[in-house]
Amino acid sequence: MCGVTGLEQRSTGVVIVGAGYAGLAAASRLTAAGLAVVVLEAADRVGGRVFSEVLPSGVRVDHGGQWIGPSQKRFHELAAKFGCATFPTWETGQHVEVWHDDTRTDYSGAVPRSGPGVDEYQRVVKSLDDLALTVDLERPWLTPRFAEFDALSAEEFFASQTSDEDAVRRLALTVQGVWCCEPREISFFHVLFYVASAGGYGQLTETAGCAQESRFSDGADALALALAASMPGVVRLDEPVRAIRHTSDGVEAVTDKGVVRARRAIVTVPPAALGRISFEPALPQARRGWTGHTPMGRVAKIHAVYEEPFWRKKDRSGIATLYSRSPVGVVFDNSPEDASRGVLVAFVYGDRVDRWAAAPDSVRRTDVLAALAEVAGPRARMPIDYAEMAWSEDGWTIGGYACFVYPGGWTEFGEHGWRAATGGVHWAGTETASVWNGYVDGAITSGERAADEVMTALKVAR
Ligand SMILES: Cc1cc2nc3c(=O)[nH]c(=O)nc-3n(C[C@H](O)[C@H](O)[C@H](O)COP(=O)(O)OP(=O)(O)OC[C@H]3O[C@@H](n4cnc5c(N)ncnc54)[C@H](O)[C@@H]3O)c2cc1C
Repeated sequence: MCGVTGLEQRSTGVVIVGAGYAGLAAASRLTAAGLAVVVLEAADRVGGRVFSEVLPSGVRVDHGGQWIGPSQKRFHELAAKFGCATFPTWETGQHVEVWHDDTRTDYSGAVPRSGPGVDEYQRVVKSLDDLALTVDLERPWLTPRFAEFDALSAEEFFASQTSDEDAVRRLALTVQGVWCCEPREISFFHVLFYVASAGGYGQLTETAGCAQESRFSDGADALALALAASMPGVVRLDEPVRAIRHTSDGVEAVTDKGVVRARRAIVTVPPAALGRISFEPALPQARRGWTGHTPMGRVAKIHAVYEEPFWRKKDRSGIATLYSRSPVGVVFDNSPEDASRGVLVAFVYGDRVDRWAAAPDSVRRTDVLAALAEVAGPRARMPIDYAEMAWSEDGWTIGGYACFVYPGGWTEFGEHGWRAATGGVHWAGTETASVWNGYVDGAITSGERAADEVMTALKVAR
């Protein structure tokens, strides 16, 4: 319906901001309960930080989220319901670590059992796992030694535990690889919270039985597309929300095309990207403080495609960690399920991504291919296809994998700013999840939790 200004005026039960996995899961639960829902998405696609694309070589790649692990229950349940098949991550053969002095260590199995700093690293990891067991995932501020750990950066905690430089290098690369930031930036309590939320440190870092266990045969956004298709007319693309206002009987979301009035809103936008929406009245101080203390991780994901996975002929897995001067931190074999092509994926994180992204195109590409050649052999310098995705340059999600928390952020703002509803506005998104925070599974359960909050508030039977 159009008003006198020509802008659309629509009414619905619940307006949802963002059509990533959190927004789609919330919409799915609410529509199943019979509520009218409108999902407003800024981008021209659904999926948010999960984005699959077929490259000119015909290979489908996941520029964002791609893996699913066995304990990610809701992700698995929904994938099964919509027939989204998965296959095991390629990992046969020898993995390699490339050290800061360019020496190499090959290993097989889940983690290196020997090599520089391994024993000391494992000792610190054990203490991390032990401390993570004390975390209260629903009310993190009730965790023993909460404020003490939140006041520390991960870097400060590691320095208090070990003086072994190689162990610290291992710990630092894990922080970069899991949180896409530097150890100096992140609250040590947030590290513990996240480890607890995943069910242990190994869950975050390993492949078989853990978060990197499987990939999707038809791309990780297949489920997002299927969810959106199951709710015809609900998702509106290319419609960024500019403002959310509280009204006498609910909320209204303002876009360039008009106004959507609803009884409640669910906002799934990552906290670091929330500044693009103005709120009337202004958000409470705790919520504003939280968003100011939870920056986005910095990550780029680069795919190089080859005629075949040639590294496997030399018993190389294509899996590598690089502590060297290369911009690349971690490499995986991302070949398709049928291995009809060989695909290597390189991750660039934290400070390294800042430097790498600022370099000219040819330098960026040369540096990444040099790292891949180090891992897989000289043929890696000659891909038949190559694609980069620097997530900081994505206008709407502005980074990845997820927001992390600066030291002190949880203590100052967590209790009232993390996910407590603000009047008629409920907060979802992976950053609000207690289980698998930062992952797609956490996004899904966050959307479902926010949908449940709305149904309770509106006295809708579930
Ligand atoms: C490189 C990378 C690798 C990753 N790897 C994995 C992995 O292997 N496994 C895994 O489980 N997770 C992975 N993740 C994390 C995972 O992708 C996210 O946790 C998850 O997709 C977040 O979903 P969400 O719905 O909470 O947020 P998002 O996906 O960010 O959705 C929010 C949506 O809101 C939209 N939006 C923003 N502002 C507005 C506005 N003003 N108006 C309307 N819409 C707006 C955005 O466009 C977006 O679509 C990865 C992420 C990245 C970036």
